[in-house]
Amino acid sequence: EKVFEIKDASVAYGGATAVKGISFDIFKNDVTALIGPSGCGKSTLLRCLNRMNDLIPSASVGGTILYHGQDLYAPKVDPVQVRKMIGMVFQKPNPFPKSIYDNIAFGPRVLGMKGSMDEIVERALRRGALWDEVKDRLKENAFGMSGGQQQRLCIARCLAIEPDVILMDEPCSALDPISTHKIEDLMLELKENYSIVIVTHNMQQAARISDRTAFFTVELDDEAGGKRHGRVVE
Ligand code: ADP
Ligand code: ADP
Repeated sequence: EKVFEIKDASVAYGGATAVKGISFDIFKNDVTALIGPSGCGKSTLLRCLNRMNDLIPSASVGGTILYHGQDLYAPKVDPVQVRKMIGMVFQKPNPFPKSIYDNIAFGPRVLGMKGSMDEIVERALRRGALWDEVKDRLKENAFGMSGGQQQRLCIARCLAIEPDVILMDEPCSALDPISTHKIEDLMLELKENYSIVIVTHNMQQAARISDRTAFFTVELDDEAGGKRHGRVVE
């Protein structure tokens, strides 16, 4: 089952083309790794998948990106809703300056999710492999957690609103090896129920966890006077 279909996508920042001619599919229950050298447009492409690129005024997206067969860039689609539904985890853990509980409860409250909030929070923290570590300190500020715990909290925060896909932009680059391993194990567990798209420049990590890989490369564009832009070779 295809979650995303990316067809001839391109992104420019102002006049500068960052990526061009990108086509690949992202499937349910897969970990899809986007790998390639720095600056080839992996983060740029990832940000297109939850319309986070809309937050960069100079960015313009071309081509077609389908999410469950629907055009993600159709005029009727509200990018703010898309960002709420499809969360992203970043290199640097970015919990809200709130309690552990409120970090998880924030999204479900905004979306008006039905059911007991305590249960929603517990379920998300269990899915994020964090419940046992934090169940007795839910009211404590998230900044008191270790870096690895904060990152799993950010993952659990995305999971709380029941998405079917999670986007991760180098989620382990700022973490120690043990925390990294925990998150890699977590990703392998999560793909039973979600599809995961991860930007990494760690080939070993990609080999360990990914089912599919989109290799990005940088190419020269003769038509654009020899400028460089990213492209996917599969
Ligand atoms: P990667 O994730 O592969 O390192 P990026 O997507 O961050 O690559 O960057 C791809 C290209 O787009 C680079 O040339 C980068 O300088 C440019 N770029 C990225 N973000 C912006 C931005 N907000 N404004 C202008 N140019 C950007
Ligand atoms: P705004 O409504 O001001 O445009 P957004 O809804 O796009 O703000 O979100 C702002 C920040 O909060 C983003 O970094 C986004 O990833 C994060 N965020 C928003 N909603 C959620 C949520 N439900 N779960 C996790 N993170 C969220």
